[in-house]
Amino acid sequence: MGLTITEKILSKSLVHGELKRGSRIGIMADQTLSHDLNVIMTYLVLETIGLKEKKVETAVQYIDHNMIQADYKNADDHNYIMDMTSKLGIITARSGSGICHHLHLEHFAAPGKILIGGDSHTVAAGGIGSLSFGVGGFDNAMSIAGQPFYLTMPKIVKVHLIGKLQPFVSAKNIIFELLRQVSVKGGVGKIFEYSGEGIKSLNVSERSTITNMGAETGATTSIFPSDENTKNWLKSFDRENDFISLEADDDAIYDEVIEINLSELEPLIALPSQPDNIVKVKDVAGLKIDQVMIGSCTNTSVQDILNVANILDGQIVDSSVELGIYPSTKTVVQESIERGAYSKILLSGARVFEPICGGCNGCGFAPPTNGVSLRTTPRNFSGRSGTKTDQVYLVAPETAAASAITGVITDPRELGKDAIEFDIPEKFIFDSSTFVKLKKNPNQIIRKGPNIKPIPEFSSMEDVTTGEAILKLSDDITTDHICPAGALYLPIRSNIPEMSKHSFRVIDETFYKRAMKSKGSILVAGHNYGQGSSREQAAIIPRYLGINIILAKSFARLHLANLVNWGILPLVFKNDTDYDSIDQGDILEVCTDNLLEGKDIKVRNITKNSTIYLVSPVFQEDLDAIKEGGFVNVLRSKNK
Ligand code: SF4
Repeated sequence: MGLTITEKILSKSLVHGELKRGSRIGIMADQTLSHDLNVIMTYLVLETIGLKEKKVETAVQYIDHNMIQADYKNADDHNYIMDMTSKLGIITARSGSGICHHLHLEHFAAPGKILIGGDSHTVAAGGIGSLSFGVGGFDNAMSIAGQPFYLTMPKIVKVHLIGKLQPFVSAKNIIFELLRQVSVKGGVGKIFEYSGEGIKSLNVSERSTITNMGAETGATTSIFPSDENTKNWLKSFDRENDFISLEADDDAIYDEVIEINLSELEPLIALPSQPDNIVKVKDVAGLKIDQVMIGSCTNTSVQDILNVANILDGQIVDSSVELGIYPSTKTVVQESIERGAYSKILLSGARVFEPICGGCNGCGFAPPTNGVSLRTTPRNFSGRSGTKTDQVYLVAPETAAASAITGVITDPRELGKDAIEFDIPEKFIFDSSTFVKLKKNPNQIIRKGPNIKPIPEFSSMEDVTTGEAILKLSDDITTDHICPAGALYLPIRSNIPEMSKHSFRVIDETFYKRAMKSKGSILVAGHNYGQGSSREQAAIIPRYLGINIILAKSFARLHLANLVNWGILPLVFKNDTDYDSIDQGDILEVCTDNLLEGKDIKVRNITKNSTIYLVSPVFQEDLDAIKEGGFVNVLRSKNK
């Protein structure tokens, strides 16, 4: 029987279980990726187990998220990170050198390698044929320490691309089309494997735009084959030796097939405030906008910036619009300067920032009150921009640039410009200052600023949990709702007591006080609870506030793993209609004396005098760990 690309890579790194859809498997990482915002928890865990040096083949650290440095907090985090990477022997990019996923694609990601990264968009590396997974800080720590990464073996979906993109319809529109077809829940429990004639016209950075935003479908990951285009990309960064050819066998078996005809695609746009609210740009053309942001790991490659410069060339940004551009890496900045794109952009009246995440997660460039902001970022969750009343539309760079000129949402084809052709150059410009030459020092003194608080201590689970349904939530609650992004909150991610004060503030500003008073409560949610980023603070904070059970219609994959790691029992309604039987404020009693995989768990609604049954969507190993207070407690007791 033939194998898919996924199966070929997994079979080489499998250390636990078998590659049977739905079973628990353990795999070993070849590479890890960390960034400053999520890595603090990772290093605190590694300090707990006393790791002396990294055990994974290649571990890389980036500093690209928490960059405003409005006071000591970000700078203290950066010092702590540099000390830990020096101690553990981890390759470190100088702060502000570029957005982690694009820098990794340039310098480390390689076909056939398993990459584990402490960020949901780690899956961007699928564009080069790396099987990449976004994880929480705890799982990232385990991978750095040479431990297996456990996951549920996903279904494998073939996404067959035919045809060729038309001028001004760039790769972002392919993933928009997939999101339109499958929604933000359609990828849960699946890996998207791309194939077909259509992939031949897509270079690695275009493929990476697609796999990057595959995260928004809820997919475990996405991957492209490794072919001549992959080889050309590696060559342009002097990495030909990393090339291997990789494709699925002709008789590989897929669980599902989706076909997209690239020739038929038009510029698409995601309306506020979910990435799957997709319509054609021409359907909302003419809507007045306040701001345009071109940036993020999804969409600021050299090609993207050249396309933007081509549209802005000789034009001035509309006086009612502010345009901000974040190139993705220093290579992109230098290529833009070399090719004359940078000055075309500056002369249009745009603000050009350093190559960091920046406005993508609200760390600068927030829109005005009720502002309509067009962004090339992967997410438009409410409030993520830093402005609670934002109206964020997601677009491809060409639509963003065209709209910045006209001041209204504009189909870039309407400007009557000629599109430019882009080929991957023989060699991209490389700035050798990008990576810091840290000397590995096992005795490195670790500086830890006052904002970095220890990991909270959590108890094991009682046999019966009684608590108030403290918050009843709808479908698609994101980690941004649970643990907000934005310049005010990112610097306190290393400080759980402080961060917890802002939990769910976008939904209910009274939540923190009520949860503190309740000292033991239960959350009730709809479908896809915890979608979005990998931030494990979205699990740690509710746990810190006394919540150790969440009842939901379904959970997002990455968040589910974080809940298990930090000792929160996830339960899924056997009948979705039982969700309606619970009101916020009801007192619930959950029997947790004998947690068995697949076994019903009784929940009594004491207020309503009724009983419903739920089941946990995790494996027995996970349930055993939850009973002990989560894998973090299991690890602590092993290292006592
Ligand atoms: Fe950075 Fe935004 Fe990409 Fe996250 S999604 S890694 S915040 S650019």
